[in-house]
Amino acid sequence: MKTERNTCDVVVLGAGIAGLAAACRATDEGLSVVLVEKSDAVGGSSAMSGGFFAFSGTDEQCEKGVEDSAELFLADMLAVGQNANDESLLRAYLDEQAEVYAWLKSRGVVFRALELSSGQSVPRSHLSDIKDVLTMLADQFVAAGGLLLVDSRATRLVQDAERVTGVHIESPSGPQTLTATSGVVVATGGFSRSAELLKIFAPEQLAAIPYGGRANTGDGLTMAWMLGAGLADMSYVSATYGSHPDTTEAFHELLTAYYLGAIIVNSDGRRFVDESQSYKTLGMACLAQPNGLGFEVFDSVVRAKSHPGVPLNDIGMLEDLGHVFRADTLTDLAELAGIDAAALEQTVERYNTAVRGLGDDEFQRNGLCNGVGELLPIVAPPFYAYPAKALMTSTYCGLTIRPDGRVLRVDGSAIDGLYAIGEVTGGFHGAAYMTGTSLGKGAVFGSIVAKTLRNARE
Ligand SMILES: Cc1cc2nc3c(=O)[nH]c(=O)nc-3n(C[C@H](O)[C@H](O)[C@H](O)COP(=O)(O)OP(=O)(O)OC[C@H]3O[C@@H](n4cnc5c(N)ncnc54)[C@H](O)[C@@H]3O)c2cc1C
Repeated sequence: MKTERNTCDVVVLGAGIAGLAAACRATDEGLSVVLVEKSDAVGGSSAMSGGFFAFSGTDEQCEKGVEDSAELFLADMLAVGQNANDESLLRAYLDEQAEVYAWLKSRGVVFRALELSSGQSVPRSHLSDIKDVLTMLADQFVAAGGLLLVDSRATRLVQDAERVTGVHIESPSGPQTLTATSGVVVATGGFSRSAELLKIFAPEQLAAIPYGGRANTGDGLTMAWMLGAGLADMSYVSATYGSHPDTTEAFHELLTAYYLGAIIVNSDGRRFVDESQSYKTLGMACLAQPNGLGFEVFDSVVRAKSHPGVPLNDIGMLEDLGHVFRADTLTDLAELAGIDAAALEQTVERYNTAVRGLGDDEFQRNGLCNGVGELLPIVAPPFYAYPAKALMTSTYCGLTIRPDGRVLRVDGSAIDGLYAIGEVTGGFHGAAYMTGTSLGKGAVFGSIVAKTLRNARE
């Protein structure tokens, strides 16, 4: 269906994975859609991401003999989120995931690796070439008759009585108003780039390295907030631990050697956290260390577990960049990396003693990742240290929604005509985040909201 310029069924704000999925799916449903993007290209934080989608019960898991289920996925999400999650949103995700996984594949998405990552008790992170996925979805949306407006910033939602009927935008041709007869979908991402909003909700996170989509300044959050939308999970904003201090937007590096067996120490040579927890929890702990720095320390056994070409686990590539210290003894390693050598020796000895079952772990660590995987002593030279900081990639909190994507006011009533999906929403992750559930959430709730809008029109 060809979309007219200023009036359509649906206006979607933001062209990351959530907005693109909603726009494509709504177009599939026969709705006319205008997709408004503030930047000069689609992608947002999605395009900078590692590309992992979390799904359970997939062909890739089956091929690798991984036993997973919606129930286990739910239990992991609640454990990571410390039961602060809105379970109805999790259930909506789990009910829709199989269809969305199949839909992504039908659109040409290839999952080229399956990994165990943050918050998962079985490998559940499906690796995609995310930039290609986003470009493909954008091209398919336009080919199906959708209208994509780039360099166009949504500035204010329009209401008629209580109902949201459209949005004001600033575009290269000047200010204009778009009218949406079925609804407006806010998919503007998080606010990792807004110092103002971080100052309000998570001031301690201002010390993290700013990251995420350049245009992710919380515009959609504030627009809906002005209409009385409720907010959820705002107190759980946390940067992600594991990025070299010199990481850049052009090339994002993150190493999770701690899920393979590394420990994390500060420059005083002391551990400060149970390294098997979500890297968001680790990020929070790292910000409190001297210079906000934590070193992933490991030996040749962990080094041998590197996965070439897989984000988060490719140690060789980080060595090639000159970002990993290596030495034959822990003392030499500490001197190279700028860690207190005597303390590091003691810390590793104490850790190894606990791993061998001869003492208690200082932080009750009982597994490599999320309580899973046998701990390894750090004994086999050479030894390695990767210096890393917390990176403010994503905020994972925001507008309260119903499982069908409708935005809820502070009092729990729905705002007529207003929907929100993706990172701009709160309630889904709770206290911390499992890898792959944000790209997954964008795609899944994009699909859900398209169906809601179709049903609302019928
Ligand atoms: C380095 C990094 C690695 C990550 N790795 C993973 C991973 O492997 N798996 C995973 O699940 N998650 C990962 N995440 C998190 C994940 O990428 C994001 O949470 C997710 O992509 C958000 O999708 P979204 O569509 O909601 O928002 P975005 O992709 O950020 O898209 C929002 C879009 O809205 C636009 N916009 C903003 N304001 C306006 C406005 N006023 N008008 C119009 N448009 C607007 C933005 O320009 C942007 O294009 C990672 C994040 C980063 C930064």
